[in-house]
Amino acid sequence: MNLSGRIALVTGGSRGIGRAIVCSLAEAGAKVAFVYQSNKEAAEKLAAEQAALGHEVLALQADVSKKAEADAIVEQVLAKWEKIDILVNNAGIIRDKPILAMSSDDWQQVIDTNLTSVFNFCQAVVRPMMSARYGRIVNMSSVSADFSNPGQANYAASKAGIEGFSRCMATEYAKRGITVNCVAPGFIETDMTVAVVNAAGDKIKNSIPVRRLGKPDDIANAVLFFVSEQASYITGQILKVDGGLTLGGMG
Ligand code: NAP
Repeated sequence: MNLSGRIALVTGGSRGIGRAIVCSLAEAGAKVAFVYQSNKEAAEKLAAEQAALGHEVLALQADVSKKAEADAIVEQVLAKWEKIDILVNNAGIIRDKPILAMSSDDWQQVIDTNLTSVFNFCQAVVRPMMSARYGRIVNMSSVSADFSNPGQANYAASKAGIEGFSRCMATEYAKRGITVNCVAPGFIETDMTVAVVNAAGDKIKNSIPVRRLGKPDDIANAVLFFVSEQASYITGQILKVDGGLTLGGMG
């Protein structure tokens, strides 16, 4: 994929899947700004590593759930690079609990961080993308959007919301040259899954037809396809990248 000349903005880029997306977009030639929340050390280390490779990568701090902060990030990127071609809404959290034990705060934090953030950043970039008559938006869903995981009512609702939002946005802006798609990962080896994977041992791996957990690069590869020229006729789609986890087979 050749993304030279493209400007990308990635939320939650300091660690895990977002970090892999930042690296692959930069490797493909895009200039990349990414947002982190609190892990300044990891964010600055990533930006420095990318600079050493000759890539232009910018680390920006914000809370993606806050509209004013999302607007300020988009303003900063436009001020520096004058356009945004690619937006990847990747930042996300879990606060897993059975519904009876779930506080309003557990509910709201997950909805605001995972779902409201997508609205915040999509709304902030849509005008500049419309002016350019070009945009590639990828929103990070999860197989949890339609796969029933007990304890994930807040998370599943946020991810199902992302998918519905993305289909509507895809329809609204297709004629302006903007595509909107989702990637829905299965179990990927990151900080988010380390506790559950450690607790479950080989059970998770054995439930996945390809018999391994996903790597952040498996997701970055799918994102790279959606933002490429080759995907210009694809919009409003949800691509599961889960090693066959949700196929429901016997293997
Ligand atoms: P992760 O390793 O926990 O990293 C989360 C990233 O999001 C970090 O960069 C974090 O920044 C950032 N972030 C969290 N809250 C934020 C906020 N309020 N404002 C700005 N940034 C914020 O997560 P991951 O596993 O890579 O997951 C990335 C995405 O994939 C999420 O949307 C997740 O739901 C989705 N997903 C993951 C899996 C999986 O198996 N891992 C499966 C399905 C879907 P800091 O570093 O500053 O904390």
